[in-house]
Amino acid sequence: MAKIQPPQPVRGTQSMLGEEADRFHAVVAAFDRVRRLFGFKRVEVPVLEQTAVFARSLGETTDVVSKEMYSFKDRSGDSVTMRPEFTAGIARAYLSEGWQQFAPLKVATHGPAFRYERPQKGRFRQFHQLDAEILGAAEPQADVEVLLFADQLLKELGLGETAVLKLNTLGDPETRRAWRDALHEHFQGHRDALSEESRERLERNPVRILDSKVHGDWPVIDSAPVIDDFLTSEAGEFFGAVTAGLDSAAVRWERAPRLVRGLDYYRHTAFEFMTDTLGAQGTVLAGGRYDGLVEALGGPHTPAIGWAAGIERLSMMIAAPEPERPEAVLVPLGERAQAAAVRLLADLRLRGIAIDMAYRGNMKKRMQRAAATGAGFALIIGEDELEAEAAQVKDLKTGEQRAVAFALLEASIRA
Ligand code: ATP
Ligand code: MG
Repeated sequence: MAKIQPPQPVRGTQSMLGEEADRFHAVVAAFDRVRRLFGFKRVEVPVLEQTAVFARSLGETTDVVSKEMYSFKDRSGDSVTMRPEFTAGIARAYLSEGWQQFAPLKVATHGPAFRYERPQKGRFRQFHQLDAEILGAAEPQADVEVLLFADQLLKELGLGETAVLKLNTLGDPETRRAWRDALHEHFQGHRDALSEESRERLERNPVRILDSKVHGDWPVIDSAPVIDDFLTSEAGEFFGAVTAGLDSAAVRWERAPRLVRGLDYYRHTAFEFMTDTLGAQGTVLAGGRYDGLVEALGGPHTPAIGWAAGIERLSMMIAAPEPERPEAVLVPLGERAQAAAVRLLADLRLRGIAIDMAYRGNMKKRMQRAAATGAGFALIIGEDELEAEAAQVKDLKTGEQRAVAFALLEASIRA
């Protein structure tokens, strides 16, 4: 029979075990703790949405929509897309599930997202995001709230010093229009110095040239007009209220006057938490106000703000978490002890003790396996122990050993 080649993973996907998986879950656990402190409700939204949900809300000219989406026709011929981010799907649910009645609605979620990108350090095709949003809130307090959530999460992860908040305003529609025209004029004047990609953006969305990753574009970008010269007084006041909130909560931030977000729906506040420890993939958490998005989906005008963070990028940066260890390992010797061990194991687990069993090899091998788990105790049961209804409990740190009645095992492990 021809030998079948075992399948390789799909490019840009990852499988995790051990420290890598522990890091991932340490990030998610910290997120869930801080989420609760800030009163953001848990939500779940589908991985699959109609393609239009993303195409309409993110904008046709964005990298995500124009070249990164996993879209396909399902068996009934409908075009569906595996979510490249959470915000659009949450906005869709806000409209279709009647969540509008809860406005202002604070929600948080996490899970896989998919983008067809060139895989490299910190960049995958299936990656995972943390996501926090406030829908139906026009007040700058909402901006401050999501920023404080992000800031406290990063501090909780030990990244308070490594990740720096870069903040900008994209103004209101009037500001943005005036700035956009000025940018168009500026880039038009330096057309020949721009990459092909940026030249393409020139007519459709010149603001997005500021987001270019092509180094050759950067000198022209550095000399581009900044938004401050075009801010209406309302937009300026709004930004002032956001920065005042951050200052009074003692959140460190830096102004980044050319920071724009890759997606079209952003207004007012835009931000990124950046680090220089991940090479080119320096943005760990990013977001902003997207007052135009729900309307772009056909809903009523709905101001909203939120952020997303890459779990893998955060995982790589945090200190290695303590590995999980059982509290004890049961070491049965002989057939009768083996049978009794299952009962004892079930009983201790029901009482909340994390306990494993070493059931392979001779006594020496089993004790080695027990020690290798990092457990505090080995509980040894053979014929004599069954007779006496007491296990030999060995403290794996000190090597001390003593007999403990089965009924008292829980207490002796906990002691
Ligand atoms: P980048 O500039 O790195 O491409 P982006 O602007 O496309 O990021 P967002 O759409 O703002 O990213 O997504 C929010 C966060 O999700 C990013 O800051 C990053 O941490 C993470 N992220 C985005 N794309 C990927 C990816 N392909 N692999 C891993 N993480 C990603
Ligand atoms: Mg990207």
